[in-house]
Amino acid sequence: MLLTTAKLEQALFASHISHTIEAQIGNTPLLRLHKTARAYGVPDTVAVYAKAEWFNPGGSVKDRPALNIIRTAEWEGRLRPGMTILDASSGNTGIAYAMLGAARGYKVRLVMPANVSPERIAILRAYGAKLILTDPLEGIDKAICETRRMAAEDPNLFYANQYDNPANWQAHYLTTANEIWEQTHGQITHFVAGVGTSGTFVGNTRRLRELNPAIRFICVQPSRPFNGLEGLKHMATSIVPKIYDPTLADENRVIETEDAQRMAKFLARQEGIFVGLSAASAVHVSMQVARELDQGVVVTVLPDSGFKYLTQTFWTEE
Ligand code: PMP
Repeated sequence: MLLTTAKLEQALFASHISHTIEAQIGNTPLLRLHKTARAYGVPDTVAVYAKAEWFNPGGSVKDRPALNIIRTAEWEGRLRPGMTILDASSGNTGIAYAMLGAARGYKVRLVMPANVSPERIAILRAYGAKLILTDPLEGIDKAICETRRMAAEDPNLFYANQYDNPANWQAHYLTTANEIWEQTHGQITHFVAGVGTSGTFVGNTRRLRELNPAIRFICVQPSRPFNGLEGLKHMATSIVPKIYDPTLADENRVIETEDAQRMAKFLARQEGIFVGLSAASAVHVSMQVARELDQGVVVTVLPDSGFKYLTQTFWTEE
């Protein structure tokens, strides 16, 4: 049967989209953490699921906000051909910008503390991004200040500003939350996520709460400022992102680094799920929440895999 012109165009458009790297962002699997739940004493009537965000082509949850930030800025005319994308990133957002910048023809310049894991730095260099490394003792906040200074001086730089840019949380509002809703057939009762920029927590909470106001939202933060939990922020001692809304969470819980490390090893060895420490933090708290319930469906987000943290020694320590 011959395709009409409109249908042919539609088919071509669909096939073009499905062949781009950015079309592979989102629609990540939702994994059930059976063995972990059993081992942590969660009742059989409670299910714990986790969104496996390392299935994104850049390897982390941050592909979603990076794509939405770039598309929104292009649409608004703030990002134009020939410009350079600039931001402060402790790694994953930077990797996402580097990947998308390469695909879309933008140069990418990233400012980050020099103690970011060597694997992340190597990945960014592989994608061709230019890196500016700041004093590790002053953390991501120093990188943010440096980025602001550079952006003010050079109009050819597009300052993506993931910490203050609403397109960050809106990416989750538009994609992740709806995927979770569909994948749980609307049965989700609790949502647990860690906060860095807070885009994941804010965007998912705003959308899922619209879909069902009875869902409870639990926000996870490190217990102390220097914690080794890459990607997570201790808000009380940090520059607070403008997109963070502390009134959204029904509950805030803290995670100890040692508990996250123990959980990362457990997940790798008992579930075959190899994730980073922010993911392990979210799972640890999800198990605490799930254990306290008689019935429910707890959903969390696993921001990235463990591959970028292989040089950390805790994997092989007792
Ligand atoms: N974990 C990792 C590994 C991350 O890279 C990030 C992003 N900074 C987060 C957690 C936190 O996500 P969000 O910025 O959406 O709060």
